[in-house]
Amino acid sequence: MNESSNFDANASYGLLPEVSELLRSPESLGLNPSSIHRGGQRARALIERAREQVTDLLGLKGSEYRVVFTSGASEANSTVLASIPEAQTSPDKDDGSVVVTTALEHPSVLEPVKRLESRGFNCSLVAPTDEGIISPEEVLSNCSASTQWVSVMGANNETGQILPVADVVSKVQERYPSIKIHSDAVQVLGKTETVLDKWGVDALSISGHKIGALPGVGALVIRTGSDLAPLILGGPQESRYRAGTENTLGIASFGLAAEVWSRNGEGYRQAMEDHRRYVKAALLEEFPDIELNMDKGPRLPNTLSVFIPGVSADDLVVALDCEHVLVSSGAACASGKPLPSHVLTALGRTEEEARQTLRISLRAEYKPGELERACDVLRRTIRAVKTHERKRYG
Ligand code: PLP
Repeated sequence: MNESSNFDANASYGLLPEVSELLRSPESLGLNPSSIHRGGQRARALIERAREQVTDLLGLKGSEYRVVFTSGASEANSTVLASIPEAQTSPDKDDGSVVVTTALEHPSVLEPVKRLESRGFNCSLVAPTDEGIISPEEVLSNCSASTQWVSVMGANNETGQILPVADVVSKVQERYPSIKIHSDAVQVLGKTETVLDKWGVDALSISGHKIGALPGVGALVIRTGSDLAPLILGGPQESRYRAGTENTLGIASFGLAAEVWSRNGEGYRQAMEDHRRYVKAALLEEFPDIELNMDKGPRLPNTLSVFIPGVSADDLVVALDCEHVLVSSGAACASGKPLPSHVLTALGRTEEEARQTLRISLRAEYKPGELERACDVLRRTIRAVKTHERKRYG
């Protein structure tokens, strides 16, 4: 079988070669790190090493933050937002919002927010401005004395847009020092220079498989004193912040991937930017009618959100898959029915335009000639789908 080119790295980066190597020597990885025998202690040492490696990549060494390993960023986001009812058990409809977040967040933030709302808590979703920007002033104006958490993502997974987290922190905390701030930092990890130490947030969520580790591992990074209640109760693992026998293999892979990004991050980011420029030029040269969403402001170096008028992105995803190029569309499948992306519609795209939007998200490393081949396939496939759909729909 031909190996596919991963132009869908924001979904999963794919294993780094160093991580694949780790899987070939899984010594101690299957043992319980809480066991006091030597095998267990070796597993424990791997976890503590991974904690240091992730802390280093975050730029948080020697700081007041603690890395708590979880099953992924979804669990980390849920842990933060599930802590609200713990702190406030009787919602009062007249109160302001307990959570203020943005309309651009990942479902792993938006769904826990919906659950809070269904339990009677007021929450605010800040919409982007006409320019597609989340305004820190607008976030602040939704806060009140009732607000417990503000949650603003570091960068959007669909468009690559970078959000102004540090500005939000300074504006909100100046006015309301007791409000805690969380950021879903999944997509900025590694892909932007480490600024997480400068954000000043109380908690952030990250995920291993977005930087080349195994899926099923992530972390909630919390500032000492943030007092977050665990979502999963049981044993005393992870300093009582998250019960359950640790996923040693996943955690070790996350640590290793973090170390690789700490070492090579600058080169990786430059390579992603170069690849992005190449793909963008290749597309615009042949299809002058395509438009790139959120291309102008601060953005990730690897992501292109491409509106291709008249072409169903889902059809393209399938056609490209047959040609061994992996991409994703601006639609999420709910109960078998594709729904247009809430992010693209919040940014002002119509539902039809959102369905005609392809997400291309690049790795830092491809084999020699791979990027060029995949771009040729991309252009040929867009041409073919365009012709086919023009014939079908007139
Ligand atoms: N947040 C963002 C911005 C994401 O892109 C993702 C994954 O797609 C997640 C959260 C969820 O991460 P995980 O797969 O580790 O639960």
